[in-house]
Amino acid sequence: MTQPLQGLIAIVTGGASGIGAAIARRLREDGARVAVFDLDPEAATDADLAVRVDVAEDASVVAGIEHVVAELGGIDILVNNAGIGAQGDVTANDDDEWHRVWDVNVVGIARVTRAALPHLRASSAAAICNTSSIVATAGLPQRVLYSASKGAVLSMTLAMAADHLREGIRVNAVNPGTADTPWVSRLLSAADDPAAERAALAARQPHGRLVSPDEVADAVAYLVSPRAGSTTGITLAVDGGMQGLRLRPQG
Ligand code: NAD
Repeated sequence: MTQPLQGLIAIVTGGASGIGAAIARRLREDGARVAVFDLDPEAATDADLAVRVDVAEDASVVAGIEHVVAELGGIDILVNNAGIGAQGDVTANDDDEWHRVWDVNVVGIARVTRAALPHLRASSAAAICNTSSIVATAGLPQRVLYSASKGAVLSMTLAMAADHLREGIRVNAVNPGTADTPWVSRLLSAADDPAAERAALAARQPHGRLVSPDEVADAVAYLVSPRAGSTTGITLAVDGGMQGLRLRPQG
């Protein structure tokens, strides 16, 4: 049987760890050739090409795109997944921190997409998927800056989907709940009681556990595949029901 992404070339930003690594692995399993853009390309274990790209540096992004096209021959799929976090209320982050997070999480998507666009336009199966977060649609404590950046990702996804529909480029987003990645492990290890903190994060999601990176990767693999040819401008939640459900307490 033909694989759904056979013959297609994908870029996954932040593809050396966590959700991005799971996406890169999954897209390869589905038949795509995958280039990973990451600050730490040596850590990318599942990639046809791993390139050191800082999505916050335009020259680095442009060089990375040129490298992929020279090595793999084009770009059909772009997964804008690289992101960094920030904690605290609205007073917690100074201007430099606001600009730093914005530069990676929001402007980073613009930089990589605009450099990739001429190649996506040349593809007959072009698709973009952006990684947002549950913080974009639910008010979680101590995440003002991070939430602002991920809300922007959702709005960008809609506007990009409108702009590029008639060029044959679909643009969607995934919205993960708290996922079991090195990022979350780093946050947990900094907590006073990591086990209790992990249990609290799991309990916050109606299905009672953290989301697995593979579950997010499956959603991305669907959205970027030609099977989803009539799906554009949507956000697919992978959050154990956290956004949409209101369960009665157990017991
Ligand atoms: P992670 O820290 O495990 O992986 C992030 C990867 O991005 C790393 O390999 C890192 O080197 C790379 N990266 C960071 N800054 C970069 C830059 N400037 N240029 C290129 N690469 C860069 O994180 P993760 O948990 O897998 O998160 C991936 C994405 O998923 C992020 O956008 C994050 O906001 C989003 N997300 C995560 C969760 C979660 O609970 N883990 C939930 C919702 C959304």
